[in-house]
Amino acid sequence: MMKIIDGKETSLLVCEQVRLRAGALAKKGVEPCLAVIIVGDDPASRVYVNNKKKKCALVGIRSLEYALEEKTSQSELIGLIERLNKDESVDGILCQLPLPGHIDEKAVIEAIDPQKDVDCFCNVNIGKLWTGDAVFLPCTPAGIMKLLENYHIDASGKSCVIVGRSNIVGKPLAALMLKANATVTVCHSKTKNLAEICRSADILVSAVGKPRFITGDMVKENSVVIDVGINRLENGKLCGDVDFDSVSNKASYITPVPGGCGPMTIAVLMENTIKACEERHK
Ligand code: NAP
Repeated sequence: MMKIIDGKETSLLVCEQVRLRAGALAKKGVEPCLAVIIVGDDPASRVYVNNKKKKCALVGIRSLEYALEEKTSQSELIGLIERLNKDESVDGILCQLPLPGHIDEKAVIEAIDPQKDVDCFCNVNIGKLWTGDAVFLPCTPAGIMKLLENYHIDASGKSCVIVGRSNIVGKPLAALMLKANATVTVCHSKTKNLAEICRSADILVSAVGKPRFITGDMVKENSVVIDVGINRLENGKLCGDVDFDSVSNKASYITPVPGGCGPMTIAVLMENTIKACEERHK
């Protein structure tokens, strides 16, 4: 029987652990703090930032918001990041992406002190991830690994196919899946025979950003299907990359959208912020 992997419920378990750790820090007089920067007024970014701030409040992390105008220059933004890097009361810095076109995202990511890079985006932290020395784990990929763990799905020895090779999902997920001893294939827009490769997967992860891109004929019987995609349909509803109806007939486990990977991404962000605070107050 197919089972739904509940990201909302799993994220609450992760957040409860974070709340306890925040409580232990509070007893020592330490208040974990996340600085969140948003540039411009992209509505989706505003929703993400609000959700992150709300979750901070629930787990006992202080959040500071820096809402900058669309026309903010790159040097002004990097100036703010440099001040936050030096600010002893700030443990984590998050700059909501995407940034306006005149700002070089890479330069901004690299300006964040790696010890405060709770999104795990900068080169130092990505390098540490691949060598197995990571302090922070990349939020969405680590959220996926926690989902598997919570449902007792062992990736070891399994074939894992990841569709999408972005720096925030596909590539870092490949590192975590390798660490978990899966045999990993990463596909992208130039991949040939995509459907055939997907059908070889025991664990199939889609991070493409195209509604209903993965259909039932691309999925092996009894496989585990993880849908990272968040796509807004014309009717305003959210949908994933996976055609839920046809795929859920074949998969043994499937994540819904919404309520799958999304809540886990925020939960890992909370965990990284607590880790940053604990590391700084060791
Ligand atoms: P991205 O940077 O746009 O990357 C998309 C990837 O999909 C690229 O590697 C691209 O290949 C590949 N792709 C595009 N068309 C393809 C095709 N026809 N066949 C195979 N591969 C194809 O996207 P992203 O930032 O990783 O995000 C992907 C989706 O996940 C989006 O819907 C995003 O909103 C969602 N997301 C969700 C969360 C969450 O918390 N749940 C977090 C992050 C992202 P090329 O590299 O060859 O172009």
